[in-house]
Amino acid sequence: MPVNGLGAYDDSNVFAKILRGAIPCRKVFENEWVLAFHDINPQAPVHVLVIPKGKYVSLADFTAAASEAEIAGFFRAVGALANELGLEAAGYRVLANMGPDAGQEVPHFHVHLFAGHNLGPMLTRR
Ligand code: 5GP
Repeated sequence: MPVNGLGAYDDSNVFAKILRGAIPCRKVFENEWVLAFHDINPQAPVHVLVIPKGKYVSLADFTAAASEAEIAGFFRAVGALANELGLEAAGYRVLANMGPDAGQEVPHFHVHLFAGHNLGPMLTRR
């Protein structure tokens, strides 16, 4: 059982469907570890989602249960993708929502890669 409140992995989540080609995505990058694609509702000029190919519901689940190779493969791919997209000079932001307080909507671990303009403060003040 995953180490968070999201429950067991559910193959009906939207990113699982994208991974098995059941629904389309605008693919940016793919290798043995990850699939990266444009967010359907972009929050910045560049808004790419990077997801592992393994079945992990969240960052908590991924970091607890994935192999060293999967974790290294995932984060190396995030950095390499940002470099390949030419984002390093101006900078970018990587964000992972984990669980209810962070507003995680899709229960398949993913990071958001934002870039393309000044991204402003890290968090909106409440
Ligand atoms: P979360 O809130 O879970 O961190 O982020 C989920 C993200 O997935 C949101 O930014 C949302 O716009 C995106 N998203 C949800 N459904 C789809 C979809 O079917 N296709 C794509 N490309 N993005 C999606």
